[in-house]
Amino acid sequence: MEVIKDKYGRGFRTLRVSLLQQCNLGCVYCVAGEEDGKQASAGKEGLLEASDLLAIIRRLHGQLQLENIRLTGGEPLLYPGLAGLISGIRAAGIPAIRLTTNGFLLGRQAVQLKAAGLEALNVSLDAVDEDVFFRISRRHSAKRVIEGIDAAVQAGLNVKLNAVVMKGVNDSQIMPLLDFAFSRGLRIRFLEVMAMGHLHNQAGQYLVSQEEILETIGRHHRLEPLPRALSATARYWKTEAGHVFGIIANESEPFCRDCDRLRLDSSGNIYGCLSSNQPIRLSLQEAEEEWNGKLERALLQKQALRFTGSELSMLRIGG
Ligand code: SAM
Repeated sequence: MEVIKDKYGRGFRTLRVSLLQQCNLGCVYCVAGEEDGKQASAGKEGLLEASDLLAIIRRLHGQLQLENIRLTGGEPLLYPGLAGLISGIRAAGIPAIRLTTNGFLLGRQAVQLKAAGLEALNVSLDAVDEDVFFRISRRHSAKRVIEGIDAAVQAGLNVKLNAVVMKGVNDSQIMPLLDFAFSRGLRIRFLEVMAMGHLHNQAGQYLVSQEEILETIGRHHRLEPLPRALSATARYWKTEAGHVFGIIANESEPFCRDCDRLRLDSSGNIYGCLSSNQPIRLSLQEAEEEWNGKLERALLQKQALRFTGSELSMLRIGG
């Protein structure tokens, strides 16, 4: 197949796969409450068998020559047979396999995941203080997640931290999180909250902008901006001591112009853009022409300039 590109020269080089909708935390940016979380997690209808999921990934890679794949969810460490899936993806020849997790089950699984061929993971850690962690995730699990992070580093995985910053919820944690990351020699990225799912119409009230995050950190460190890599979601800054941190500023500084991401959910739907809530269902039985037409439709979903919001939660579409 010819490489598909849109008028901005964008194609698909990165695949994000949401393995399941279940999660063992109840983060306030993802779900409105426990009931909402349970409901979002309940729908198992139409979920792909692991072998079909792998077959779709292989077929996409055969066409798109993917450079990397990120497994996410829901919570990917709840996916039965995760290590087997990773080995299968490795055998398919996708160069970089990464995963995004809340870290709750990482202590138990880190060694096995590394052995299966996982190289790198992002751990979502929105607070180091146990009370604030509870306020944002509805669980008292900061200590356990931190132990998971340490286990992953110990297992030889390349670990990055992600923290969504929400006004009045966990914005007190910017410096404690930064200090935690620096003390472990880990790279942390702060995320502006996005207008998704139940926050679709009210993310603005929780937004802590890139400028505000930099202002907070700038009170403690002299900062030097680093050049942004092509199709990267984060921009990075270096402190005078040489520590590096990033900000993913979806609102203040959108990065749609060179986005190369394609998303696949646990039912076999693809999405070309987070802003879109129009799933496009792939089927392995489809002939090449039909399948390719769907990829072209997904590419057309990409926004030109900025994220415009989505009624779908990241829990469903995969963060
Ligand atoms: N359970 C895994 C985890 O916690 O990392 C993977 C899935 S979770 C949906 C992935 C990430 O999506 C979250 O940690 C968070 O960084 C991001 N996310 C979800 N909803 C968001 C929102 N409304 N705004 C910004 N980031 C969001």
